[in-house]
Amino acid sequence: RPQTRVAVPATPGRTADGHPVELLLNIGSAKDVRPEAEGVGLFRTEFLFLGRRSAPSPAEQRAAYAEVLDLLPGRKVVIRTLDAGADKPLPFLGLPPEENPALGIRGLRTAAGLPQVLDDQLAAIAQAAAATTADVWVMAPMVATPAEAASFAARARHHGLAKVGVMIEIPAAALRAHRILRHVDFLSIGTNDLGQYTMAADRQDGRLSDLLDPWQPALLDLIGHCADAGRTVGRPVGVCGEAAADPRLAPVLVGLGISSLSMAATAVPAVHAALAERTLDQCARAAARVLDADDPSAAREAAP
Ligand code: PEP
Ligand code: MG
Repeated sequence: RPQTRVAVPATPGRTADGHPVELLLNIGSAKDVRPEAEGVGLFRTEFLFLGRRSAPSPAEQRAAYAEVLDLLPGRKVVIRTLDAGADKPLPFLGLPPEENPALGIRGLRTAAGLPQVLDDQLAAIAQAAAATTADVWVMAPMVATPAEAASFAARARHHGLAKVGVMIEIPAAALRAHRILRHVDFLSIGTNDLGQYTMAADRQDGRLSDLLDPWQPALLDLIGHCADAGRTVGRPVGVCGEAAADPRLAPVLVGLGISSLSMAATAVPAVHAALAERTLDQCARAAARVLDADDPSAAREAAP
């Protein structure tokens, strides 16, 4: 192992008073895994598909998923199905260029025209899951409606996958989180895209970074709404966008009712330490103050 590799704390995430908060990794392949981690909250599978003329075979996919799962025996691994589209073009998908790629055929939407790509991927994930002790969860990106969530869940369960969820990246989905939870076992909030769509601000445009600030109260309102929906029915709601990696914002997310935080391995130590310094009640009080702010800087000041 290279020396530069940052280890993550081997103890599970907890607040000062012992409330558990899963601290999970965002990974793009097996090389990002830290075997001492609690698990993986976002396994981006795009790497398998990039630069290909045709989809990777089910056998090749199964091997790539198994490589990750075998590093994390007994632990949770949330695999996200392919998140491609005109914004992350994949030649074999044959999608035409779009005027507004962020608003076009991307994420789960690509499965409507190309159902075989999703079905092959779900089959490969299910086969890899059956051959491991890792606890495999699967989720779809860019879900807008309860009907899309229901259709994805049915397809995933058809392949024998037991823990099925969706990402919340579109305000419509956040607003209807309680209805989406009728169909799925968990939600994972992608704050990078949810921020982009909430603020109508292109996440790739540096000039709009103030609007894309994860401390925007409107974004935090939507996150709180999703967390409330999850608590009402007793289903987990995590955050896997950049917001989860901010050690000052992470306790606020926990105070809003978020049950897991997923981030790059390098961010885990600081988030772990920030949670360990605060009780759940302090997190909840900080969250209430933050929601009462009118802009990101006031929100930051409201969270000690
Ligand atoms: C997100 O949108 O917050 C997310 C985690 O997905 P990605 O960054 O891969 O779009
Ligand atoms: Mg996203």
